[in-house]
Amino acid sequence: MHYDVAVVGLGIVGASAVYAAAWAGARVLALDAGTPGGGTSGSSFAWLNSVRKEPDAYHRLNAAGMTAHRELSRELGGDAGYHDGGSLEWADGDDAERELRERVHRLASRGYPAEWISRERATELEPGLAIPDQVRDVAFFAADAWLDAPRLIGRLLAAASARDAEVREGKTVRSLRTRGDRVEALVLDDGEATASSVLVCVGPATQAFLEPLGVVIPVGRVPGLLAVTSHPATALGRVVHAPGIHLRPDAGGGLLLGAEDVDTLAANAGSPAALSGLLLERAAHVFPAARQLRIANSRTGVRPMPGDRHTIAGRIPGLANGWLIATHSGITLGPLLGRLMADEIVHDKPSSTLAPFRPDRFLTAGMTTG
Ligand SMILES: Cc1cc2nc3c(=O)[nH]c(=O)nc-3n(C[C@H](O)[C@H](O)[C@H](O)COP(=O)(O)OP(=O)(O)OC[C@H]3O[C@@H](n4cnc5c(N)ncnc54)[C@H](O)[C@@H]3O)c2cc1C
Repeated sequence: MHYDVAVVGLGIVGASAVYAAAWAGARVLALDAGTPGGGTSGSSFAWLNSVRKEPDAYHRLNAAGMTAHRELSRELGGDAGYHDGGSLEWADGDDAERELRERVHRLASRGYPAEWISRERATELEPGLAIPDQVRDVAFFAADAWLDAPRLIGRLLAAASARDAEVREGKTVRSLRTRGDRVEALVLDDGEATASSVLVCVGPATQAFLEPLGVVIPVGRVPGLLAVTSHPATALGRVVHAPGIHLRPDAGGGLLLGAEDVDTLAANAGSPAALSGLLLERAAHVFPAARQLRIANSRTGVRPMPGDRHTIAGRIPGLANGWLIATHSGITLGPLLGRLMADEIVHDKPSSTLAPFRPDRFLTAGMTTG
């Protein structure tokens, strides 16, 4: 069987591309080494937002990613894992407060839903929060949401299968066999598969996957730890960023907890059990019902982190029919990037939105060898 498009890697990014390519009429082969959604996408805080995404082109890309999620959720119907409600954030200390004020102002002036609400209003929205007395105003980002990413991935692949996409899990692509500037075949453990175009969406494995082709696209691996609690007596409805802790509802009914400095400790071989305990202790300061909770499990995910921290999407340098997407904030960006790349591959319609994010920027920066 020869396919129009083969997609390697079925996290949120690859699954979105599979869905969009099948929707565009392509015959799609979709391959994952493990279980779809079992990589970084299944171990993510999965906050859909564009509140700290600079410069402006990257902010707009993420805001467009949020719009794509809303459209996709309507298109799929039923529970496709999308949870709206916005996000709340407050700061502690002069510098952090100034940074948040400037950010809310900057975002609102760009037309992003960002506003100040009173502490009382924030507590009406989230009765379980104990916002410190000295905090008078809380930032509210009304369009933010969170995603049950494994659920959306499952829905995308089921919808693509209904359009004749062939989805195979437990299928590692060992390499791409190339000749001149073309990918001729995908090399599997039990033979080869062929497709007119190949899209590589292997997340944190990107750099290692492409190196044998003589292409060095800098994509680092940045671990992060999240802890899941038992079910709280008081529900939490949305994403909350408080000093030293961020939390949101977990799809299983508990709370999902994380913190940037704890990620750094996790990256330096801190014990997941001890670090999860630290997260729970911090959560209890801002969400007192957490005092009665225990840690149900913890998840360590590895962020694919492009060398300049911004999305990489486009042709693999040196290949006419090979493409790649590698990005941080892939939960926010997956559906948008999947659709834009599917349009480009299937309909030969490159998007100007992606112009600042092409892989060959690393060539001109002298970071790629060919
Ligand atoms: C702790 C943490 C918090 C985060 N918080 C957020 C957030 O709040 N908001 C946000 O937008 N983003 C967030 N991110 C980032 C986001 O989760 C990632 O950018 C995104 O999940 C990447 O998706 P992906 O599809 O590229 O990769 P993955 O989900 O890792 O998927 C890649 C897939 O490729 C497969 N694969 C690898 N090699 C091969 C091969 N050779 N052959 C076949 N298959 C292969 C793997 O099995 C895997 O399933 C967070 C990440 C972490 C770790």
